[in-house]
Amino acid sequence: MTIDLNEIIEHDMTEDCPACRTQDIVELALVPAAAAWELRNGLPRYSIALHGAAGLLGALMEEGVDRDDIEAALSKLLDDIEQRIEEDNVMGGPPQGTA
Ligand SMILES: [Zn+2]
Repeated sequence: MTIDLNEIIEHDMTEDCPACRTQDIVELALVPAAAAWELRNGLPRYSIALHGAAGLLGALMEEGVDRDDIEAALSKLLDDIEQRIEEDNVMGGPPQGTA
């Protein structure tokens, strides 16, 4: 089985864009759930986030996807997030949740 990472991360510019829908789920469900698991288990902040991300991506390596391809895809997504954070800061101060 071939997994096309670009197909997963690229926006298709439709109303139904899979990349946008996935980002919404991550933001609304996964990020808060990871924070709650950390708190409930007395783990350092972002420990589940970081290990979870690595573990989820490790599953891709188990499927035979090249690590370099995974790192490149991750890097691109982080670039996008970094850009969005900068845009948010320009638009209207820091995002909610930061003091
Ligand atoms: Zn999109």
